[in-house]
Amino acid sequence: QKAEWAKLVNEKSVTADGHHVELAANIGTPKDLKGVVENGGEGVGLYRTEFLYMDRDQLPTEEEQYTAYKAVLEGMEGKPVVVRTLDIGGDKELPYLNLPKEMNPFLGFRAIRLCLEEVDIFRTQLRALLRASVHGNLKVMFPMIATLNEFREAKAMLEEERAKLVQEGVEVAEHIELGIMVEIPSTAVLADQFAKEVDFFSIGTNDLIQYTMAADRMNQQVSYLYQPYNPSILRLVKMVIDAAHKEGKWAGMCGEMAGDETAIPILLGLGLDEFSMSASSILKARSLIRNLNKADMEKLASEVLNMSTTEEVVEAVNQAISL
Ligand code: PEP
Ligand code: MG
Repeated sequence: QKAEWAKLVNEKSVTADGHHVELAANIGTPKDLKGVVENGGEGVGLYRTEFLYMDRDQLPTEEEQYTAYKAVLEGMEGKPVVVRTLDIGGDKELPYLNLPKEMNPFLGFRAIRLCLEEVDIFRTQLRALLRASVHGNLKVMFPMIATLNEFREAKAMLEEERAKLVQEGVEVAEHIELGIMVEIPSTAVLADQFAKEVDFFSIGTNDLIQYTMAADRMNQQVSYLYQPYNPSILRLVKMVIDAAHKEGKWAGMCGEMAGDETAIPILLGLGLDEFSMSASSILKARSLIRNLNKADMEKLASEVLNMSTTEEVVEAVNQAISL
C-alpha cells in the first residue's frame, strides 16, 4: 500500500468526480519541510511558531524569526504557507516569561490574549513575518480568537508594523492573507460575522472539540467525551465552512481531524477547501480522496448532520466508504 501511495506524490488531490482540495502539512520548524516535500504537501497549512520560543531561555530575536520564516517560505517555492502567530500558554509554557500559574490554563492567558497584552513580543513577530513575506506566499493566522475585537486589534497592529516598515524603506509583500483559527465555540457560532472581515478560516479541532465538549484534551478520564464525530462538532464545522463560502473566502482545518480517515469523507462533503495534517498522513489522505465522489460525500454529510450520536456517524461513514 505504501508503494501505491508513493505514486501519488506529484498527483492532484482530486475526487473521482473532479473536485479539487488542498492537502497541506502542519510543521513546527523549518527542518520539517523535507517531509512535506517528500510527501507531496501542497502547502503548509499550519506552521506552529511557538517552537521558536520554546526550549531556550530568552525570546527569539526579530532576525532569528525572520530567518526561520524565510527558510520555510523559500522551501515551499511559492506554495501557500500559513504561519500561526505565537500560541503559548495552555499546555505550552515559556519559563522565562514568568507567567502567573493559573487554575485553568486552557481557559486562561494564552495565545492571542497574551500577544495583545505583551505587545512587544507580538510586534517583533509581526515585523519578522512582514519582512519575510517577500520570499513566498505567506498567509498569517491568529490563534485562539474568541471575539471580533481581538481580530481587529491584531490586524491593526500588523498594519501599523507594515506602515513602519514601508516608512523605513523595507520591502513587504503587497497583499498578505490574514486569517484566524476557529478553535473557540464563540467564533464558530459567529463565523458569519467573522467571514466578512477575515480572508480565511482554519478550524482547530484539537481545541474546538475540547471547548465544545468541555473535556480537557489531555485528560484520559474524560477522553470518552473527546468526540470529533459528535454531530455537535460536525454542525459547528459546517457553520464555519458555509460562512466562509458565503463571503467568497476559503475554509481549512489544521486540527488532527483533518487527517483522519473517518472524518475526511464528511469534511469533503461539507466542502472543506484545505486539509492540513502531519506530512506522513498526506499520501494516504490523497489516495482516499481520489477514490471518493464529492456528490456522494455531500449526501453522507447531510445525513450525519442529522444524527444524534458519534456511534451512528461512524457507522454511516463506514457504510458509505466501503461501498
Ligand atoms: C488545534 O487546536 O486544533 C490546533 C491545530 O492547534 P494546537 O493543536 O497547536 O492547539
Ligand atoms: Mg489550538
